[in-house]
Amino acid sequence: MSEWISDIVGPGYAQSIQVETVLYEGRSAFQHIQVASSPMFGRMLILDHAVQTTEADEFIYHEMLVHPALVSHPRPRRVLVIGGGDGGTLEEVLKHQVEHVTMVEIDRDVVEVSRAFLPSICGRAFDDRRVRLLIDDGIAFVQQTQEKFDVILVDSTDPKGPGVALFSEVFYAACARALTDDGMVVAQSGSYIFQRELTEHVREHLRSVFPMAMTYWAAIPAYPGVLWSFTCGSTRHDPRSLTHELIADRLRLVSTRYYQSQMHPVAFTLLPSLEA
Ligand code: SAM
Repeated sequence: MSEWISDIVGPGYAQSIQVETVLYEGRSAFQHIQVASSPMFGRMLILDHAVQTTEADEFIYHEMLVHPALVSHPRPRRVLVIGGGDGGTLEEVLKHQVEHVTMVEIDRDVVEVSRAFLPSICGRAFDDRRVRLLIDDGIAFVQQTQEKFDVILVDSTDPKGPGVALFSEVFYAACARALTDDGMVVAQSGSYIFQRELTEHVREHLRSVFPMAMTYWAAIPAYPGVLWSFTCGSTRHDPRSLTHELIADRLRLVSTRYYQSQMHPVAFTLLPSLEA
């Protein structure tokens, strides 16, 4: 069986990936869930017909969502992950000397399907004693929590279905309240090329609640348009001011395949038309 999955990101543009085998298919209370294998990308997690992560390039997305913030913050001890059901973000966070990681994922089925069919992505992250997994709506959690986090990572789907609220000003304002005085938040902010409005929307919202907000990018082949953006809101630490030496020192104990100290300034260098 060979068919193609088409990820439509905007008017007039879709990216199609060949699918060989569907290993899992089901519908949860929140979304349609598939795990399929592709000759080019290996096993892929697909939610509501949009590719979320693939074995071939998940490391690029997860490393770039996690490490720029965790090396920008001098002592990230308490981290909150919103979404991230595949466990890839969690695995990267646990490479750092963090003491406690809370992960708030709305859909238990995504976690269980990922643990069963995508072990190369989540590894043993869900079994780490530093991890607290909560099955809950991320926006409700940040609005209610009295806890304070050093870094909040928003590994959400696109702004569809349960993910819509995770792109709202109300959500980012609640994140700002759930951070320590020198805390930072990073959110995936869509295709750098085909979802420019979304990227700017996220940056404007973060800019309205943080003294600093900036966008950076990475090349992720499985994502439509390949160039993907992340947007950071920070109260004190500016990722753009880090030296190569400081990044290399803070990455000393962290193994990475894509994110390197040399890569950091490149990622924060945007096309002039999208300059922060
Ligand atoms: N890397 C992917 C991307 O950029 O499209 C995201 C991957 S991750 C699988 C996205 C996760 O966000 C999903 O597991 C989904 O269930 C979760 N999610 C969506 N809305 C949520 C919400 N309101 N609260 C918590 N998790 C949510």
